Amino acid sequence: MAERALSGRIALVTGGVSGIGLATAVALGRAGAQLALVDLDPTRVAQTAERLSRELGVRVDGEACDVADPDACASAHARLSARLGPITILVNCAGINAQELKPLHEQPFSHFERMMAIHVAGSARMAALCIPAMRALGFGRIVNIASIMGLQALPWRVGYTTAKHAIVGLTRALALENARFGITVNAVAPGYVLTPVLEERLRLGILDYARYAERTPVGRWGRPDEIARVICFLCEPASAFITGAVWTVDGGWTIRGDPGDDLGPSPCDRGETSA
Ligand code: NAD
Repeated sequence: MAERALSGRIALVTGGVSGIGLATAVALGRAGAQLALVDLDPTRVAQTAERLSRELGVRVDGEACDVADPDACASAHARLSARLGPITILVNCAGINAQELKPLHEQPFSHFERMMAIHVAGSARMAALCIPAMRALGFGRIVNIASIMGLQALPWRVGYTTAKHAIVGLTRALALENARFGITVNAVAPGYVLTPVLEERLRLGILDYARYAERTPVGRWGRPDEIARVICFLCEPASAFITGAVWTVDGGWTIRGDPGDDLGPSPCDRGETSA
């Protein structure tokens, strides 16, 4: 078989059993990487690893781990590295949506803390665990998943918006800190993408497909594989000159200016959610 762009590389994907993370694992595997999946549910991790290994013809392993738990991250990283070898590609996809759409002061503060623990501390922690091997080998690729809410804000999404803005800051600071060691750190900021978590909200009528499709210049929601192909591109050795960048993959959402210009506070009243 011809050499593929990521042959011989080991890629860890958090949130790797669903949505954008799963699509990313597939794209990285197709590019030849061996995969280390990290997600919450051990059965789903094991089943996804077995299925992807069979379908993609690459080695796929996994560990159940809550990325908000420091000890769980350390042991998942240690076990996966021991079994697969040094991890030099990290994609931080694990994430949750807002638990409640309410003003910050009307929610339990634990919601804000959980959002920061998963998105920000989880991504930073996994990076800190992976960087030593990347530096030792002189090659590393880290891609963090931000959001259009990392660049803009809507009301009643303070935790998610703060976490996604922090992901952008984390990406830029880590990129600078590691630029001379063959390590690039970038963020991808998706717009509205049809993943299981949002499909469920559409099905329940909590979220209105047409409203968001209409506001998106290309006139539809994105697909997970459309985000994954950009993430995979950023992980290739040939992408070495791209670092500290935030790539919007949003069907043009952010070129329209104020995100509230035609959404206003009404999505909150309707119980809608955030991308
Ligand atoms: P998803 O729910 O399909 O996938 C998220 C995965 O992360 C799930 O498998 C979940 O179990 C896992 N996860 C959640 N908390 C975790 C934790 N504490 N530890 C380990 N794993 C955990 O959602 P998705 O839409 O694919 O979201 C992936 C990322 O993309 C998230 O960071 C999300 O904020 C971001 N994002 C999504 C959209 C969108 O429209 N779908 C838009 C912008 C950004």
